[in-house]
Amino acid sequence: MKARHDSICVFEFGASKELVLRLKDDVDLVQSITEIAKTKGVKAGTFTAIGALKRAKLGYYDQRSHEYRETTIEAAMELASCTGNVSLKGGEPFVHAHAVLSDEKGNTRAGHLLEGSVFAAEVHLTQLEGPALERKYDKATELMLWVPE
Ligand code: ZN
Repeated sequence: MKARHDSICVFEFGASKELVLRLKDDVDLVQSITEIAKTKGVKAGTFTAIGALKRAKLGYYDQRSHEYRETTIEAAMELASCTGNVSLKGGEPFVHAHAVLSDEKGNTRAGHLLEGSVFAAEVHLTQLEGPALERKYDKATELMLWVPE
């Protein structure tokens, strides 16, 4: 499948602020980044995180049924990789995060991170300056996606 230029939505930003955070025991990773984005006025941004989680809830978007399937992992896992972004949904900062979690043998589970109870986590959040990056309902996918103004 080829990429057509008109099939890509391009938004141009400049980086304005780099925030480095340490999250403490028992907070939720997604909620904490959302709170920081609200407090610091981050309306668009990207982040990475590493650390360890006590439990997690991962989502998988079923492209046929257009529904999220959820899996809860009730185990201590390494947050081997977590990447995501911040944009606006309903005018409020919204965090979209994906994570790769690994167990003691290095086996991984991965997906859309819905919840992650932190054991320890280090987050690097880059605030972006530019146009409003707002999520709107997309009919084709039935997801809330970025739409140009
Ligand atoms: Zn996702």
